[in-house]
Amino acid sequence: MPCNVEALPTSSADDLPSENQGVLALSLSEDGTTQVSMALELEMDRYTALDASLRRVTRVFERSEAQLVRASFDVLSSTFSYHSHVMSHSGKGARATAAAGTDAIAAQIFGWLSSSRLFLDHSRRLLSQTFGRESAEFHRFEAATNWCYDNSISYRFVDQLRNAFQHAGVPPISINGTLDESDGKTVLRLIARRDQLLDYYQWKRVVREDLSRLDEDIDVYELLVGSVVQYEFLAAQVRDVLRVDALAPARMLKELLSEVPGGEPVALYLGRIHVERRGEEHEKLSMTTSPLVAGQVESVLGMPAIPGPPAETPPCIGDLIAGTDTRQSDCPLTSSNLISTPHAEGVALIPTCDLHQRQVAKWAVQNLGAAGLLHPSLLDYMVAGLAAAGHNSSTVRSPEEVHALRRTREQLPPLGLDLSPSGWKVPQHPDLGDS
Ligand SMILES: [Zn+2]
Repeated sequence: MPCNVEALPTSSADDLPSENQGVLALSLSEDGTTQVSMALELEMDRYTALDASLRRVTRVFERSEAQLVRASFDVLSSTFSYHSHVMSHSGKGARATAAAGTDAIAAQIFGWLSSSRLFLDHSRRLLSQTFGRESAEFHRFEAATNWCYDNSISYRFVDQLRNAFQHAGVPPISINGTLDESDGKTVLRLIARRDQLLDYYQWKRVVREDLSRLDEDIDVYELLVGSVVQYEFLAAQVRDVLRVDALAPARMLKELLSEVPGGEPVALYLGRIHVERRGEEHEKLSMTTSPLVAGQVESVLGMPAIPGPPAETPPCIGDLIAGTDTRQSDCPLTSSNLISTPHAEGVALIPTCDLHQRQVAKWAVQNLGAAGLLHPSLLDYMVAGLAAAGHNSSTVRSPEEVHALRRTREQLPPLGLDLSPSGWKVPQHPDLGDS
């Protein structure tokens, strides 16, 4: 911490205790130098308790591996968009471009799989070391990962793909241009042939069954995108555990801040001054300090609670046919995400599985102009939040309700709503927006 220890109020060495601790205020003097002063002295016991509290509050804001997972997926996503763009303009060279693009994308997939493993391992370690393996906090995270595994085909696939990469090498993926019959445009997709993918690795039985129910050409990128919302859900669980743990400490610190006398300090620190004496002269002055950020204290107290895994997961709305808004076939899967879309009265939330997520999102973009992706754990949370903000919302579970939404298209309000809890990031499919 940069500070000028000479500026401490040391009228004489005799007055200075050998230890003292409390709230230190950093301020700027008129000549531009920084001064540190003891704004509020604290008893040792209280100081120790507050110092521990401060650590629990700042932990909520520390960088986490979840950011690494996000950054890594952003790179993967832009690499895919870039190569798709180059390929669609490279004419006769498209085949060579596709091969080079596939290598770059495979490398990015491996990087993203590694960072998501890091996130899972680190989160487990953090929660078990902080709260214990038998704690409710640790069990909450375990229950959340189990929920993802049980409900998301994409999450299960990604979980296994990580091992597959390590034991069987690069999966048999390629970039293919396919004609989208609904709008007559060529869409570039990251494809693996189903039989080749099944032969490539000794998949667990459940993933083998998942892959068997997919098209002959499996859209691998779509599976990867489907798992992103699950990793966001897990990251939100960790942050919420830390938020709950920091609530009581934040209240203690808020009370402390209210006791600090006014004035205009640049910054406050919780700190301890240690003076080593030799004879009458004080020889050495050392300080340990931690920034005491009022904004973080307020932020912890104001953060919305994030729900854990839902007790009941709505079923997928199914295989919608774009033109008629009818269902091609019933989908037996539970929903692993919600498509949010604006309509005349507010926002509609449509539950889908990983396999129908893109199709329903595309429907929402074409018919209502916008689509976002959320986690099913947020269903009740979003409905309550929208109602509290004076907006209507509906959950749409049948093709008839979907059709009714289409009729409201002409009276769309501007979306202008922040549908996400802070930090919740909605992944964009590269070819979703161009329809
Ligand atoms: Zn489905």
